[in-house]
Amino acid sequence: MSKNDDPSLRPATKLVQGGRRPEWTGDPRLGGGIVNPPVWRASTILYDNIADLKARGHATHDKLYYGRRGTPTVWALADALTGMEAGAEGTLLYPSGVAANSAGLLALLSPGDHLLMVDSAYEPTRAFCNSMLARLGVETSYYDPLVGAGIADLIRPETRLIFLESPGSLTFEVQDIPAITAVARERGVLTMLDNTWATPLLFPALAHGVDVAMMSLTKYVGGHSDVMMGSLTATRAVWPKLRSAAYQLGQSVSPDDCAAVLRGLRTLEVRMQRQGENGLAVANWLADRAEVGRVLYPALPGDPGHAIWSRDFSGASGLFGFTLKGADEAARTRFIDSLAHFGIGFSWGGYESLVVPSDPATIRTATRWADPDPLVRLSIGLEDPADLIADLERGFAAMRG
Ligand SMILES: *Cc1c(COP(=O)(O)O)cnc(C)c1O
Repeated sequence: MSKNDDPSLRPATKLVQGGRRPEWTGDPRLGGGIVNPPVWRASTILYDNIADLKARGHATHDKLYYGRRGTPTVWALADALTGMEAGAEGTLLYPSGVAANSAGLLALLSPGDHLLMVDSAYEPTRAFCNSMLARLGVETSYYDPLVGAGIADLIRPETRLIFLESPGSLTFEVQDIPAITAVARERGVLTMLDNTWATPLLFPALAHGVDVAMMSLTKYVGGHSDVMMGSLTATRAVWPKLRSAAYQLGQSVSPDDCAAVLRGLRTLEVRMQRQGENGLAVANWLADRAEVGRVLYPALPGDPGHAIWSRDFSGASGLFGFTLKGADEAARTRFIDSLAHFGIGFSWGGYESLVVPSDPATIRTATRWADPDPLVRLSIGLEDPADLIADLERGFAAMRG
């Protein structure tokens, strides 16, 4: 039993204690434990004799068998993530967030099945549905992220899975997840949520009726822009399917990478707290600027998703977008190129601030992104927000030319 199986513990305590089982952090023969689970690297596991080999072949989890099935470093991270989601049976780790999404969809869908995919999903998720899943005979339809309980009208007899992502990639619409999962449960349809923006700290997905919670650990959980990994945390009903698919697909992660992600996990609560505060400071400043059309950030009271976000989420991370009012592509480029304290780059959730241009209009199919103003996405880091704001002010000056 893991220390963080205790449901009375609060999330910050679980983040600190998760995965630190004595059998993973110390060797009783050495007389004690160390704080962090060591990096256990292995391909071959040696057995005492044939009886031992045979016995361990049947143990599918938490027992050394062969490197691909993990070592205690890997199990420690999986265990810590499972402890963050009440009602979770287990967590599987994948070499990236994209790998986690693809493996989850492959595990749960078969030829002839129908998938309902949110129109604001991360673009590579759509690409997987439109090519690989289509080739395998799974039909995907995209739905309006604001559909809410109206999802009931879109469910067909062959619908097996509803995929959610909230807030949505690039445009940050907040979905009514409890309304959708309630309909899904009633109709016997599974739900899977890309919970990368909030993490279970701000939105415990399984407690809101979701069956499979996905995260790109590359983002906030890793938190230091130096490791790629993804996870799926699932209920008891779904977990065995995910595990056998992961084994068949040969999905495994390196213990060195798990140690890096575990280090990030320990400080997730303080980083999320500060990045949310910094994000709100920058977003509030932007909202008052004449150069800005609108700020897409559910933490702002004026945001269309604010009411549902306030009801369901316990905070905001530091990732949001905003539009440049009446600007063109060249002006957006001048603005971004002039920033000194925002790196231009993909990914987000690291300790350092980032900026990228984004163009949702070309991605949507079920809904239309009609705003003509160019969009910018910011990932606000742990810098002093006053320095970031001064930088953005210089960016606006450069944009005006
Ligand atoms: C980045 C991202 C992913 C993919 O994660 P990788 O670790 O980069 O493969 C999935 N979903 C969302 C919402 C993301 O932002």
